Amino acid sequence: METASRTAPITAGAARIEIDDVSLRYFTKQGETQALAGISLNIEAGEFVSIIGQSGCGKSTLLSIIAGILEPSGGVVRVGGQPVTAPSQRIGYMLQQDYLYEWRTILDNALLGAEIQKRNMKESRERAIHLLEKCGMGSFLNHYPRALSGGMRQRVALARTLATNPDVVLLDEPFSALDSQTRLAIADEVVDVLRSEGKSVVLVTHDIGEAIAMTDRVIVLSRRPGRIKSQHLMRFPSYVGGRPTPFQARSLPEFNTYFSTLWDELDVHVEG
Ligand code: ADP
Ligand code: MG
Repeated sequence: METASRTAPITAGAARIEIDDVSLRYFTKQGETQALAGISLNIEAGEFVSIIGQSGCGKSTLLSIIAGILEPSGGVVRVGGQPVTAPSQRIGYMLQQDYLYEWRTILDNALLGAEIQKRNMKESRERAIHLLEKCGMGSFLNHYPRALSGGMRQRVALARTLATNPDVVLLDEPFSALDSQTRLAIADEVVDVLRSEGKSVVLVTHDIGEAIAMTDRVIVLSRRPGRIKSQHLMRFPSYVGGRPTPFQARSLPEFNTYFSTLWDELDVHVEG
């Protein structure tokens, strides 16, 4: 069988991610911690996957490796067929903390990445405004972050991540600082924006419901050192008429079935 060659054309605006036998050890004064062991995983161009696993199992470590921020101890990550060896413009990374600059307006915050990457600012401005509008922030362009709620700040952070038009978007627990109602509301909008942009997306979360409702495939990591324990395609045949929104997905019978399967997979223990 022919495999994707290095010269294969890349789908515009999305890229395949190949994670090939990746492991990572941290070395500190206290000793050595193996965070990841033998992770092999492909994410198709335009696919939206989630990675779940207990705290400390290596989820953030894996995202940092995909982002080119951490070098794996073994194995390789390729994006669009090219090995990742350093952070690149093709990869957008959004963290739990929004890192908005309080002295810059919302629009100027959304333009930060484009400025750093020395993009055409006229085009970037148009794109940033378009994205902020899509994220429901169109009437706040000239406001400052301090005037915004946590959910609004995360919308701005998402627009900023997308403003540089990366092929791959990595999201590390982007909603975990938000209250549960805001999380539910923002999930629908975020999925809508990400899907319409057609990016390859990897969402890391410890929230099973979020993973089921938002993504196409849920990947479960074992306890440390993180290995792939199982993978599950999220399908909602009981929903007629396309794909359910995250909010709709939560009331479908498949949601409960997936939830109990994944709950068992995660093997959560409460101490005491
Ligand atoms: P998760 O995001 O799933 O909670 P992390 O990827 O942050 O997990 O961490 C995986 C393991 O590696 C944890 O045991 C953590 O303590 C350890 N770890 C993370 N970062 C470092 C670091 N910079 N130095 C040493 N150990 C680390
Ligand atoms: Mg983490």
